[in-house]
Amino acid sequence: MQFKDLQLNKPILRAISEKNYEIATPVQEQTIPLVLAKKDVIASAQTGTGKTAAFALPILQLLFDKQDAGKKAKKIRALVVSPTRELAIQIEESFKTYGKYTNLKTTVLFGGASIEPQKDVLKKGVDILIATPGRLLDLHKQECVNLSFIETLVLDEADLMLDMGFIDDIKKIERLCPKTKQILLFSATMPAKVVALANTILNNPETIDVTPKSSTAETVNQALYYVPKTKKMELCLHLLRNTIKGDILIFRRTKFGVDKLEKMLRKNGYKVDSIHGDKLQKDRETALNKFKDKEINILIATDVASRGIDISNLDAVINFDIPNIPETYIHRIGRTGRAGLTGNSYSFCAADEKTYIDSIQKLIDTKIPVEKEHPYPLDPNAKPEVFINKENGPKKNRKSAGSKKNKKRWY
Ligand code: AMP
Repeated sequence: MQFKDLQLNKPILRAISEKNYEIATPVQEQTIPLVLAKKDVIASAQTGTGKTAAFALPILQLLFDKQDAGKKAKKIRALVVSPTRELAIQIEESFKTYGKYTNLKTTVLFGGASIEPQKDVLKKGVDILIATPGRLLDLHKQECVNLSFIETLVLDEADLMLDMGFIDDIKKIERLCPKTKQILLFSATMPAKVVALANTILNNPETIDVTPKSSTAETVNQALYYVPKTKKMELCLHLLRNTIKGDILIFRRTKFGVDKLEKMLRKNGYKVDSIHGDKLQKDRETALNKFKDKEINILIATDVASRGIDISNLDAVINFDIPNIPETYIHRIGRTGRAGLTGNSYSFCAADEKTYIDSIQKLIDTKIPVEKEHPYPLDPNAKPEVFINKENGPKKNRKSAGSKKNKKRWY
């Protein structure tokens, strides 16, 4: 369907035609009319499907159509809650781009950055607010944010927000908004806890599903390498020298692991940078921009830092560590093979990660092809190398990466 058939008004159509969008993506085609009709929506859609425009365009239109005449002070009427700073910034950019011919004001709030400039922008008045949960609640507590005029609340990447332990924050934010409001919930995957949240806060929602639960990008060639934990660095170097070319995103489970791999690759002459939760926001943005501008061709990231970031034309994804949450595998490899291009994923599995691979294969209902021809094969009888894994941080922190208490520090 063409955008001009979606009942969008002129300022918005003008902005999207400048972006050279003509045809709405499936999630846009389905979501835009429902949002314009003020329905609650629960949408299963990954990044890369055009989901940001699917909610941003109709929200801009609804707010534009209902703008107060004259110069009345602006009130926050749309709120988008996003799990990560990077994603929040990207969403803000999208609203600004699509709304450039409206006079609607958008701003973004996130932690890890100075709070005073954010307060100043809020004081001047905004129509659309994008925010990560913690900073939003912080500013609300300081009475700098008034959520009592919210007409539309968007919960983006709901599954990740719940994985990050934001459930109470989300419920609190929802309660701070007026009772009668429209809620749009987007999630790359639909585990039971997301459905349960939707059932508690959404009102008779319409369901949209553009990514079936267990789908992995069909355009991604997947390969699985069984390798001892202690040989993963060597395998990575071997593949980078001989097999994997182009723009590469490498995932590691912990920030300790990210730093260690970055150092090693840099020492070996690779142009590399990294993003994880301990890095300053400006450094994370610089790394991402360097990757997008092709100044570097390898970016190493933890899942939380990388979720939602839109990097196009990625040639390969390396799962240096196998994710312990099976849905994360789908997100990671979905970073390549986007927009009809072919991509490749390489997963390094050590003895203690075999159970993760089992869960992933069960979820995607596919056996990932195993690559046996490499110099560092894992002895099939090898026992898990639990105590060799120094990269997972100090021993005392190692007991439960998934526990609520430890969650923040591991990413
Ligand atoms: P998202 O899933 O929102 O992260 O969007 C992924 C990418 O697709 C972004 O770079 C958008 O600018 C782009 N995009 C979104 N909608 C369209 C469209 N209808 N036609 C072409 N590109 C689009």
